[in-house]
Amino acid sequence: MVKTHEKPIFIKEVKRDMYQMVINGKPADAKSGEMMTVYNPATGKPIAEVPKADREDVDIAVEAARTAFDHGKWKRYPVGKRARILNKIASIMRGRFRELVEMEVINSGKTLSAAQGQVMQAIEDFEFYAGAIVGHRGDVNNVPGQFFNYTQKEPTGVAAQIIPWNYPMMMAAWKVAPAIAAGCSVVLKPASLTPITAILLAEICTEAGVPDGVVNVVTGPGTTIGAYLTEHEAIDKVAFTGETSTGKDIMAKASETLKRVTLELGGKSPNIVFPDADMDAAVNGSIFGIFYNTGQSCEARSRLFIHDSIYDEFMESFLAKTSQLIIEDPLSEKSHVGAIISQTQLEKIHSYVEEAKKEGATVLAGGHPLKVEGFEDGYWYAPTIITGVTNDMKIAQEEVFGPVVVVMKFTDEKEVIQLANDTRYGLAAAIWAKEQGLIKRVSDGLQAGVVMVNCPFSAFPGTPFGGYKESGFGRELGIETLDLYTETKSVLSYAGRKPLNPFNL
Ligand code: NDP
Repeated sequence: MVKTHEKPIFIKEVKRDMYQMVINGKPADAKSGEMMTVYNPATGKPIAEVPKADREDVDIAVEAARTAFDHGKWKRYPVGKRARILNKIASIMRGRFRELVEMEVINSGKTLSAAQGQVMQAIEDFEFYAGAIVGHRGDVNNVPGQFFNYTQKEPTGVAAQIIPWNYPMMMAAWKVAPAIAAGCSVVLKPASLTPITAILLAEICTEAGVPDGVVNVVTGPGTTIGAYLTEHEAIDKVAFTGETSTGKDIMAKASETLKRVTLELGGKSPNIVFPDADMDAAVNGSIFGIFYNTGQSCEARSRLFIHDSIYDEFMESFLAKTSQLIIEDPLSEKSHVGAIISQTQLEKIHSYVEEAKKEGATVLAGGHPLKVEGFEDGYWYAPTIITGVTNDMKIAQEEVFGPVVVVMKFTDEKEVIQLANDTRYGLAAAIWAKEQGLIKRVSDGLQAGVVMVNCPFSAFPGTPFGGYKESGFGRELGIETLDLYTETKSVLSYAGRKPLNPFNL
C-alpha cells in the first residue's frame, strides 16, 4: 500500500518564512508581536510563522471592516462593478493556481489532486457569485387596495467568518465570495493549523481592487480571537464551519447580540449500496467517499451500508481496491491519500479505532498509523475498514474525521433509511442503485442536506450545501447563500389620490 516517494513535480519549500495578517488592505503583525508556527503535516516540519493575534488585533480588524461597510464604497458600487472585481479575483487566482495548490498541499498535507480540485472550486466560487449577484434582487408584490410594495436586498453588514483546517482555501472562498458579492465586509479567521491560503486570498482581493477593510484576515487561536469575534458588538453575522460542539458555543455567544448565524458542522454520512447498483461504480465511489481528503471531510461517507445479498462480492472488491491506494509524497500526481493534519488528530483517530476493537469490532484493513518513506516525521494513518459494527457503537455515531469507515449490512429499504437517519447528524448521504422509484423513496426518506445518487461528489458552485439536524443550518455554495448575507427591506407605499386618515381625525 505504501509506495516510496517519486520525484516531486512542484517545489517543496514555501516562498516566505513569515505571512502577515491582512487588515484594512495592509499586511499586519499582532500588536503583541507574538507569532505562531505553521507546520507541514506530511513532514512534521515547520514551514512559516504567522501572527498570533489577540483581542486588540481583532478590534482593529473589526473596526476596519465596520468603517469599510458603514462609510465605504463597496456596497454602493453598481453590482456589475462588484461582479467584475470578483471575476478579477478569480482571474488572479487562476494565474497563481500552481502556487496556491502547492501552498495548500504543503500546509495541509492533502494530496496534489485534492488540492487542485479544491483550489479550482475556490476560483469557480468567485466566478459563480460574480454572476449570481447580478440576478439577486428584490421583488414587487401585489397589495390589496391602492398600495405598492417592493422589496430590496441590502447587505447584512460585517461578517465574522471562521473556518476549519480540512479545506482551507475552499472554505475561505465559500465564505468570502458570497459575502463580498452581497456587499458585506468580512473578518476571516482561518484555522491556526492552516492559515496561509486565506492570507494569500486576502492579498489577492486587495490586488483585484476590493477596497481596504472589506476583506480582513486575522490569525490566532479560536478559543480566544474566534470566540471574541462571535460576541463582538460590531459584528452582524457569524458564518462558521467546524465541529458541532464549537458551533453550539458560537450560536450561544452570537445570540446575545442576535447576530445572524450560519453553521456548517459535523457529519456521519451514510453510503448505501443496493443490490442493483453498478458494482464497480459503487465500490470506486465508496472508496472515494471515505478516503478522499484522508477522510478529513465533514461530508465523508463514514458509514457504509451494504445490502446483505451483495455484501461478500462488494467487500472483496472494496478491500482489494483499498489496498491499491497510493500513499506517498502528497505533491506526487499519483498520490490518493494524504497526511493527517496533526499528531493530536492522528491520536484521536487511532483512539476511536482502538475503542471500536474493545467494543468487539473487527479491523479488516489498516487500523494503525503509517510510516511513509521520506516522510517519517509526518502524521499518517492507514486507510481503515471496520466491520462487526452496530449503528449504536461510538465508532458509528461520532465523527472520527480520518480515513476510517465502518461497514454494516442491511436487508430492506425501510430498515436502511431508519439506520441511516439514526444519528444526530444530517449532512450528506449517498445512494448506489438503479431503480428510479427506490432512489426517489430513499432520497425522500433520508435526513440529509445533500444526497448523492450514483455519484461520489457533493459540492459544486451553485449546488446548496449544508446540513439537517446537528450538522448545522443555512446553505452555502448556492444562490440562496446570498440571502444569508443580505437583509430584505420591504417598502410599502400608498398610491391613492385621497390621503389616508386611518383614525378619521
Ligand atoms: P473546531 O471547530 O474547534 O475549529 C474550527 C475553527 O473554529 C478554527 O478556525 C478554530 O480555530 C475555531 N474555533 C475553535 N474554537 C472556537 C471558539 N470557541 N469560538 C470560535 N471559534 C473557534 O475544529 P478543530 O479544527 O479544532 O477540529 C476539532 C474536531 O472537529 C476535529 O477533530 C474534527 O473531528 C472536527 N472538525 C470538523 C469539521 C467539519 O467540517 N465538520 C472541520 C474541522 C474539524 P483554531 O484553529 O485556532 O482552533
